[in-house]
Amino acid sequence: MIKFLPLDKLNGRYSDEIRKAVLRVVESGRYLTGTEVRGFEYDYSEFTQTGNCVTCASGLDALWLILRAYIELGVMEPGDEVLVPANTFVASILAITDNGLKPVLVEPGLSTLVIDERQLERLITPRTKALMTVHLYGRISWSGEMADFCMKNGLKLIEDNAQAHGCMTLNGRRTGSLGDAAGHSFYPGKNLGALGDAGAVTTDDGILADVIRTLANYGSSEKYLFRYCGRNSRMDEIQAAVLRVKLRYLDKDNEARRRVAAMYMEGIDNPLINFPDILPEQSNVWHQFPIFCKRRDELQEHLYCKGVETLIHYPVPPHKQQCYSMFNNLSLPVTEKIHATELSLPINPVLTEKEVRTIIDAVNGFS
Ligand SMILES: *Cc1c(COP(=O)(O)O)cnc(C)c1O
Repeated sequence: MIKFLPLDKLNGRYSDEIRKAVLRVVESGRYLTGTEVRGFEYDYSEFTQTGNCVTCASGLDALWLILRAYIELGVMEPGDEVLVPANTFVASILAITDNGLKPVLVEPGLSTLVIDERQLERLITPRTKALMTVHLYGRISWSGEMADFCMKNGLKLIEDNAQAHGCMTLNGRRTGSLGDAAGHSFYPGKNLGALGDAGAVTTDDGILADVIRTLANYGSSEKYLFRYCGRNSRMDEIQAAVLRVKLRYLDKDNEARRRVAAMYMEGIDNPLINFPDILPEQSNVWHQFPIFCKRRDELQEHLYCKGVETLIHYPVPPHKQQCYSMFNNLSLPVTEKIHATELSLPINPVLTEKEVRTIIDAVNGFS
């Protein structure tokens, strides 16, 4: 069986360095808010070319903290609206609703798979305060026009960069530096993954970064004095030490993903399969390799029988979830079509050429 994502193999490539890093933390006697976390914050702000990196416990927390900080700063208030793509992992939406803000679900493009910028103008109201763009599947979701639209309408531009670490614009700017603030997830399966949960915010806004740091520390910036009702959201020293190792290999790993993607695009010629638009090379870090098929479930079963494990991202869109019953009646046909036909093929830096060929043959053999 070709596994969808063999994390043991992925991390095993760096096992010597990871062991050393973990042991260093164990022996230091300091497990929270120490030199590893400070070191990773420095490294990751350098990597993303942003002025500040504030680590936290998860990607969801990162997005939640950004919005809560804007509320504390008086930039937005509960009841305000946030534009967000309708086809995203539910965490993007949870960060909005959990702050009492209203998600305005925007259809994606059917072949871009990210937010359809042409819809934005129509959906804006006097209560719209932010646009949360999601670089889904590792595909960049940003343009100069998007930035101008936000500027012109006084909206904060927030990036959900959980799936696109290392992705770049044509000018070489990294995702995580393209808006006012960005939330990053280091969930083990992401392109830059820890050995557990971890997240971070990057931003050039020093005031915002300070509020986020305070909020993530129970709302306190001075010991035993609490300015906000915050939460405990921290990255462990062990996770930071591991991430510092893996960050050094991120660009190389993303290159390896691109080589697998190139083989798939060259080799798959089954007329029953559709691909999304091709992006400039540096603007796609291939967190997933999504293909589309009307008979998606049959295709998945066929591949499974041929020894290929696949996943669906995602089987049910956020607006059709039980927890969002108030959105269940929205009609979002593009989103629904994507969710009904998407299938993700294995893509990761440890797939061998032989495995990729096996997968291509299995896909081409579906009729
Ligand atoms: C993974 C993910 C998140 C949440 O990150 P966690 O670290 O799992 O909390 C948010 N948004 C998107 C698009 C994701 O893929």
